[in-house]
Amino acid sequence: PEAVVALVEDRAAAVAGALGACGQTSPAAAGAPALQTGQRFRWTCSMAVPRTFPLWAEGISRFAKHVAACSGDRLQIEVIGINDKIKGLGETFEAVKQGRIEMAHAAAYYWYGKSDDLQAAPFFTSVPFGMDARGMSAWLAAGGGQELWDELYAAHGLKPFPCGNTGVQAGGWFRQPINNLADFQGLKMRIPGFGGQVLARVGANPENIPAGDIFLALQTGRIDATEWVGPFHDQLQKFHQVASYYYTDGWHEPGSCLELTINKAAWDGLPADLQAIVAACAAEADAWLTTQWTARDSAAFKELQQVPELQIQPYPAEVIEGLKPHAADLLAEVRDSSPLAKRIHDSYRAFQKQYGEWFGLNSLPYYRAWDV
Ligand code: CA
Repeated sequence: PEAVVALVEDRAAAVAGALGACGQTSPAAAGAPALQTGQRFRWTCSMAVPRTFPLWAEGISRFAKHVAACSGDRLQIEVIGINDKIKGLGETFEAVKQGRIEMAHAAAYYWYGKSDDLQAAPFFTSVPFGMDARGMSAWLAAGGGQELWDELYAAHGLKPFPCGNTGVQAGGWFRQPINNLADFQGLKMRIPGFGGQVLARVGANPENIPAGDIFLALQTGRIDATEWVGPFHDQLQKFHQVASYYYTDGWHEPGSCLELTINKAAWDGLPADLQAIVAACAAEADAWLTTQWTARDSAAFKELQQVPELQIQPYPAEVIEGLKPHAADLLAEVRDSSPLAKRIHDSYRAFQKQYGEWFGLNSLPYYRAWDV
């Protein structure tokens, strides 16, 4: 048996090393039970998207296959889509919290409004004029973000991992051009979360519409504009057929970090080697999803550039500058919602400022000079 244990430990260590992972947690240090090689686990992971959703579902299915392969099938995770067994996003959160399922793949900002303390949850996905994917990952892994996230979610019996980042999302699709802030007056736009709240402050009517209904709403003029994700997913929705203006710089979601949340009792009940495998495979899935978004968005954008009559451009500078103070006001209100929200806000903003100082003189001038 010792040899088997050593082999399993070696295997887990090798997997963790090979996947370049282990940056997020130190599962073995968390007081996990001793290695129990005979015990088998069957988990269910519900996603925030349908079972066949391109890219996103591919990444999570791949994660589940890796966990099974690395654990010799001792931990098998069935991946299901939204509404397959658990109806809706709110119910998904409750199902993991209560342990009806062990795991979900979603995004922290979906839980905003579920309880007072979760008002700060969007900081763990993306906030308007917040950090890009690189800064977000750095804050979580090396700036104290993960510890604050663990603390926020522990109160709900959950253990979170970052798992995929969309990068800077696309600004959105509009039927009419946006030249200044006044053009948002009365505009009906599908834009959830903090981005929508910022637009409401300049007179827009933001709303959230399920993915499958956005195209028809935009086509019929029930809404005037929508944001979605980025060129790859936007193109699949065919928004370019019903809107002529594509604004490219998604100030509202500058690097949306998706999450893998695990019921904490289920997580604490895993042997140390399986915890290491889950953490390593989650980190690998995080990297895989992020790189897929980068590659597929740029490929899809090349195709969108060929669409006749489609006007592609960043938002006018005066629009971006005009929205910024409203975003700052909103984040300040969230900061004041609870002591933990203040700590999360202050940590995030301090990290963004420090990251931004170097970014501003290092990456930004380079990107401006970059001959693309
Ligand atoms: Ca979005």
